Amino acid sequence: MEQQPGGGLVLNVDHTFKILLVGDSGVGKSSLLLRFSTGGFEELVPTIGVDFKAKVVDVGGKKVKLTIWDTAGQERFRTLTSSYYRGAQGIVLVYDVSRAETFDSLADIWLREVDMYGTVEECIKMVVANKSDLAEQREVSREMGLQFAKAHGCLFVETSAKGNVAVDQAFEELVHKILETPSLLAS
Ligand code: GDP
Ligand code: MG
Repeated sequence: MEQQPGGGLVLNVDHTFKILLVGDSGVGKSSLLLRFSTGGFEELVPTIGVDFKAKVVDVGGKKVKLTIWDTAGQERFRTLTSSYYRGAQGIVLVYDVSRAETFDSLADIWLREVDMYGTVEECIKMVVANKSDLAEQREVSREMGLQFAKAHGCLFVETSAKGNVAVDQAFEELVHKILETPSLLAS
């Protein structure tokens, strides 16, 4: 049991994991985080400065506290640094199925950064194909996403933050996988 300090409330959790959201600007990282943490969706999600939200989830009988970090609009400037990546057990690589260039960026930018700065060996990577509700505008097929994820040893989920499709499932699958990886539970 880990003791979480805080106010009058002491919360006991079995594990605390740091999860990162990375991906091009506009793919829906902040919307996914908002959906997961509060259950809501807003058309405009302002992102200023580095932001994180904490949520306690029950997965496989374990109480797990997640601190989920959002790049908060710095994506364009490519200024995510080693401190952002440090200690992350789970990394969520997000693209927008309606914009192929955001999918290409996973290989060109985001996976490279993860490999360069990630400090946790065996950290779990998940590719999230967001905006699955935009069927008419789709540019990246499910098969392409899945194949890419497999090739790079990542989990894969298609989501819609807007339609609340598979958002909780994505984070839960990630936590499941972390819990199955002994080296990630040591710290
Ligand atoms: P971020 O820059 O990656 O944090 O992306 P945001 O969360 O700010 O979302 C960018 C835009 O995409 C906003 O206008 C959102 O309302 C919209 N958006 C986010 N998720 C979805 C989704 O699942 N479907 C649709 N249609 N729009 C979305
Ligand atoms: Mg954002």
